[in-house]
Amino acid sequence: MKLLLLYPPFCTPTAMPYSLAALKSNLNAALDLDIQCLDLNAYFHTLQFPTYYQNIQSAYQQGITAYGELLQQFENESRELYNKNHKQIIASQPPDHLQNLVHHIKEKKPNFIAISLVYNSQCFYTQALINALSTLNIPIIVGGPAVTTNLKKSAIYLKNEQELITYLQTQHIHAKPPATIALPPDFSDFHTQHYLSAKPIYPLKTTTTCFYKLCTFCTHYAKVPYAEYPIDTIIQTIQNHNIKYIYFIDDMISTKRLLHLASALKPLNVKWWVQLRPTKDLIPALSELHAAGLHTVCWGVESANQRILDLMKKGTHIQDIPSVLSTSHTTGIKNMVYIMFGFPTETKEEVMSSFDFLTEQKDNIDLICSSIFGLQQGSTIYDNPAQYQISNINEKKRTVLDPKITYNISSGLTTEQTKKIRHRHMHRLNAINKVPKVFDYLKEQMLLFE
Ligand code: SF4
Repeated sequence: MKLLLLYPPFCTPTAMPYSLAALKSNLNAALDLDIQCLDLNAYFHTLQFPTYYQNIQSAYQQGITAYGELLQQFENESRELYNKNHKQIIASQPPDHLQNLVHHIKEKKPNFIAISLVYNSQCFYTQALINALSTLNIPIIVGGPAVTTNLKKSAIYLKNEQELITYLQTQHIHAKPPATIALPPDFSDFHTQHYLSAKPIYPLKTTTTCFYKLCTFCTHYAKVPYAEYPIDTIIQTIQNHNIKYIYFIDDMISTKRLLHLASALKPLNVKWWVQLRPTKDLIPALSELHAAGLHTVCWGVESANQRILDLMKKGTHIQDIPSVLSTSHTTGIKNMVYIMFGFPTETKEEVMSSFDFLTEQKDNIDLICSSIFGLQQGSTIYDNPAQYQISNINEKKRTVLDPKITYNISSGLTTEQTKKIRHRHMHRLNAINKVPKVFDYLKEQMLLFE
């Protein structure tokens, strides 16, 4: 019996999907079943954009500016194409290459199909795939953080890996004896040439979820107990695939754990990328981390106002952030900075002070990744709106995606006002960036440049 694990279009095709690689390995350990991963997203892009794939190496040889320009052009063209396809799917018309992708799936002769959705943008094509594959008369399962209510109705929705294992057992797939060691994610089904990156960059995860879990706006982290994967398993993954560039997709990693990782990674001569909160306990560790290959940190700065940081429950202190950024920069680490504008109750003066802070820190920053606050179902703010001056939360139905959330705010800037301010002052952020702005969307590409 064969299970096909699919990663659907559309998201950026620059790195392999970790979700499928980890799922394949864990299912293989648990069940007596033939399992294959198919990254349809990457495959779609090779069909649609062959010229970019042909030109990526020469752009890389020409340097960061040419490389950034190529990727920016790709980003512009692909976004337009995604929008066009989303409209086609909403109008019940087939998206581009649908028959080709369906043929590719049928060739594999699966008995079960499981589709992993990590990004909202994957919901549209998934809907079209489910409709087109219904003639196969085989179970189609959907799972992952981006599954929408509509998709749950169109396929078999299973919340997690354990539910998938249990389901497959009900379909007469035999269980194997429990594995005694953690298994490394298996990337062997992916083709490195299907990824729009001058060199292969592998996403890896070292923990089950964020250990902090307190930021009031956040819904990123998985609501599962925090656990650390064995370092030996991470090293084995790196060796199995001869990995040179690692994009650690953990929401964040503790200082103690980072130091353990660093001592294991140092002999492997790899470059790695992580996301961290800018807390001062990291300052003494940064040079050791850099010596072990830490290339880039994406810092969750979010705001330059302590009042807002406290409302976010970010657990950071604004007076510590300049020393974290400057130590990181002087050590040789690249600094990317997440900044969020328009947090509930934030005033125009507070937004402008974040702009001023970033300008003051310009020598220590390589790239700014800015966002506008959005209310997310499942966040602390959503569950306690009155504490954040939010009222009248409403949901506006959408065809494919889950409903759009709207709300009123009785203090601070509205989303529209915030967007206008950011737009007006975007030139200040652009002037700080030392690397192509497109790396904000393709963050792992920072790893390829010194
Ligand atoms: S924003 Fe980052 S650190 Fe904060 S709870 Fe979310 S994942 Fe954890």
